[in-house]
Amino acid sequence: MIVQRVVLNSRPGKNGVPVAENFQLEQSTIADAVQAGQVRVKTLYLSVDPYMRCRMNEETGSDYLQPWQLSEVADGGGIGVVEESQHHNLAKGDFVTSFTWPWQTVAILDGNSLQKLVPQLVNGRLSYFLGAAGITGLTALLGIREKGHVAVGANQTMVVSGAAGACGSLAGQIGRLEGCTRVVGIAGTDEKCSILVQEMGFDAAINYKKGDVAKQLRELCPGGVDVYFDNVGGDISDTVISQMNQNSHIILCGQISQYNKDVPYPPPLPPDIEKIRNERNITRERFLVLNYMDKQEASVLQLCQWIQEGKLKVRETVVEGLANIGAAFQSMMSGGNIGKQIVSVSK
Ligand code: NAP
Repeated sequence: MIVQRVVLNSRPGKNGVPVAENFQLEQSTIADAVQAGQVRVKTLYLSVDPYMRCRMNEETGSDYLQPWQLSEVADGGGIGVVEESQHHNLAKGDFVTSFTWPWQTVAILDGNSLQKLVPQLVNGRLSYFLGAAGITGLTALLGIREKGHVAVGANQTMVVSGAAGACGSLAGQIGRLEGCTRVVGIAGTDEKCSILVQEMGFDAAINYKKGDVAKQLRELCPGGVDVYFDNVGGDISDTVISQMNQNSHIILCGQISQYNKDVPYPPPLPPDIEKIRNERNITRERFLVLNYMDKQEASVLQLCQWIQEGKLKVRETVVEGLANIGAAFQSMMSGGNIGKQIVSVSK
């Protein structure tokens, strides 16, 4: 059977900015017959995520991530529908997902590598299983629960960087649901800031590309910052950390501002900021959602419940067509997305 797939065409280099041309659409063939234990799936949605930037390097810098190989099909989070099954637990028409879904229109996969999805849990919005009800939502929820020390009645102020992105937009809302009394976001456009406040219930949002971030933060967080959900690192994080309270907590989710640089992860703080962190006893422990997969099932049900109740507002930026996945990745890395960046493959 003839299929379309997307391969890694070139590497951006450790210090380079990724571009759509690093990926290439090509035609390929898969076997006609499905073997015992396998299923043939039609791809519906693919996820593009910042961690994929590391997979574009020859060495990813982390033991849990494998580099993509040149001229080989890329992979990541995906959702599809079973077209033919030789697996005892999967039937034609089932919706399934995996973290290692090939960027390919149709594929033959090992049935044991797939998780079955229940669309009703997300009001039929299947792609949410790649975002708010998937690894992104889990990252926001478990990051806050495992590293945030958020408590009802503690009158805490939370700041979120990368706030209009997939994780950030959920993290601010979850921070509020878990007990924070004030939530302030930092994002890269006025439109994003307006959505955070009007739609997602943030108390305020700062456009970091305009004006003095430190000054705005001082005005918007008069009692200082108790919890910082850090998606970006770099200058923005140094500014936030400078305004954090004694015994406060950083949720070290990601450092996207550093991903196109050849630096270790997590990047060390500049000496003056590290001194503040030490003197104020601010925690900054590494957080990796994959270390908490024993909490996946219960946490996904919690996220789905909030979505159904309308307590968690979800935004997606959907790009149509497998051919555009490289452009979608490039756009997401440079701030083109609001909420979760999804590629719809079915049309
Ligand atoms: P995302 O935030 O939806 O997309 C990336 C956003 O980052 C862009 O839209 C852009 O928005 C912002 N950005 C890009 N370059 C920036 C820069 N130099 N400075 C400031 N902001 C920049 O992506 P996501 O999937 O939600 O991931 C967010 C972070 O969480 C990433 O660092 C990712 O690696 C991390 N993550 C960690 C885990 C974990 O287990 N720890 C799991 C998933 C994701 P602006 O317009 O605001 O610039």
